[in-house]
Amino acid sequence: MRLKWLQNKLTFVIIPEANGSVMRVKMSRGELYLALLGIILLLGTASYLYGVYFHSSAAAQLTEARVNDQTSRLEQDLTNKNKTIDHLQNEVFQLSQQAAEVRSQMEQMKQLEHELKKLTSMKETQSGSGSEDASEVKAQAAGGMGGPAHLVTTQQMNTLFHTTHASYIALKQEIAELQAHWTQSKQSMLAKQDQLLRIPSLWPTHTKTITSAFGYRKDPFTDKLSFHRGIDIAGKMNDPVYASAKGTAITAGYDKFHGHNIVIDHGNGVHTWYMHLNGILVKRGDRIERGQQIGKLGTSGRSTGPHLHYEIVHNGKSTDPKPYLPNR
Ligand SMILES: [Zn+2]
Repeated sequence: MRLKWLQNKLTFVIIPEANGSVMRVKMSRGELYLALLGIILLLGTASYLYGVYFHSSAAAQLTEARVNDQTSRLEQDLTNKNKTIDHLQNEVFQLSQQAAEVRSQMEQMKQLEHELKKLTSMKETQSGSGSEDASEVKAQAAGGMGGPAHLVTTQQMNTLFHTTHASYIALKQEIAELQAHWTQSKQSMLAKQDQLLRIPSLWPTHTKTITSAFGYRKDPFTDKLSFHRGIDIAGKMNDPVYASAKGTAITAGYDKFHGHNIVIDHGNGVHTWYMHLNGILVKRGDRIERGQQIGKLGTSGRSTGPHLHYEIVHNGKSTDPKPYLPNR
């Protein structure tokens, strides 16, 4: 029944314009459905293919844009990195130049130290090596520059970096050594300076008139030959009396022979004596500076008038103070 329905013939009449003859197309219902189905399938496939083509084309364009974008970013990145590498290479080069400069200055400091040690006649200590670099730098600094440009390889750059690094480490070490040497030198110089300050080398009074010299003389009281162990310097009552060197007061007192008197110990077996004072400004045990006023000139004890008896004792033996006094 259904099959018969499908086989039923349908006639389509196509009427052209004007005088054309009429066309008749006969087909069964089944054939019509088949034809319609075919057209629908064809249209479907076509639109599907068009869709796929459109989609893939758009995707390809998008991918291409992304790739282009990424490429330009990578190129920019590479340019920046190259710039950074150039900058770093320059930095390493500058550092290596500075290291050479510091090395040169270090050599000058060592030379200075050497000269200072000679001046203070101290025992010289060893202090590193490597003056050849400094002379190289000086040689490079002079004259013009030129020649073909050769790009620096990574290996060369690494070598320069390591050399510079090693140079800084060595410099740090040498600076520490130099510091230690200079501290030692300073201590030695201070000790030397202290020793110099302890040598009697000043006039103990303002007046520089010696009224009685060191050596044999006729005693002013007995008129008999006696030995004068110091010098007598003229002055007025209460004139200031100064310590001729740095030291420690070991006597500050009075007895009937020396009157008010002071003895200063300067170390190395050297003592100075100041006698017949009218007043004492220090006490036993006081640390005395070179040039410090210690008393007032007088005529106490076995004395005929205002004067200072000044005496230098070296290892227990009186010695002539005159060679110790500065020229007038
Ligand atoms: Zn005297």
